[in-house]
Amino acid sequence: MGLDKTLNFDLLQKCLGCGACYDLCPSSLHIEGYDPRAVIGDILQGEHEKWLEHKSIWQCLECHHCLEICYQHYGFENAMTAMRMLATKKGLNPPQVKRGWEMFAKTGRLGEPAMPARKKLNLPEPAASGKEEFVKLYEIYKKSKEAASEDKGA
Ligand code: SF4
Ligand code: SF4
Repeated sequence: MGLDKTLNFDLLQKCLGCGACYDLCPSSLHIEGYDPRAVIGDILQGEHEKWLEHKSIWQCLECHHCLEICYQHYGFENAMTAMRMLATKKGLNPPQVKRGWEMFAKTGRLGEPAMPARKKLNLPEPAASGKEEFVKLYEIYKKSKEAASEDKGA
């Protein structure tokens, strides 16, 4: 499935001409070279492939600032998310993303809490991760995906 099926190119074209949220995007402000406008420009030109192995598409924090201020409720974040999904489908995601997923599926966490740092800050024990519920939901999801693909094949 091409990006024109997952992204609204008309809205992205307006986004490219707007650029307003560049000045409040934390990644744009603090990471040298991060500029979703360049990615969006290439998506619209049909040249998105060059970004699939680029670290920029993984530097979006999904903080939603761009969506919150956007007059279209569309733009930077949708483009970067679509690029990460496409890169992952093609197996081009960074290895740490795969490791993070495997850890999450196993423990319900993306990382272990730093207990000494929590103690120093007088923070309480972290809450349980909810791993059991996640594993159950993930099994239900996988079965529904399998059933859907069997239906399509029938
Ligand atoms: S996401 Fe919205 S506010 Fe940000 S540049 Fe695009 S159109 Fe403008
Ligand atoms: S969601 Fe991504 S692109 Fe949007 S403001 Fe946050 S870091 Fe920037």
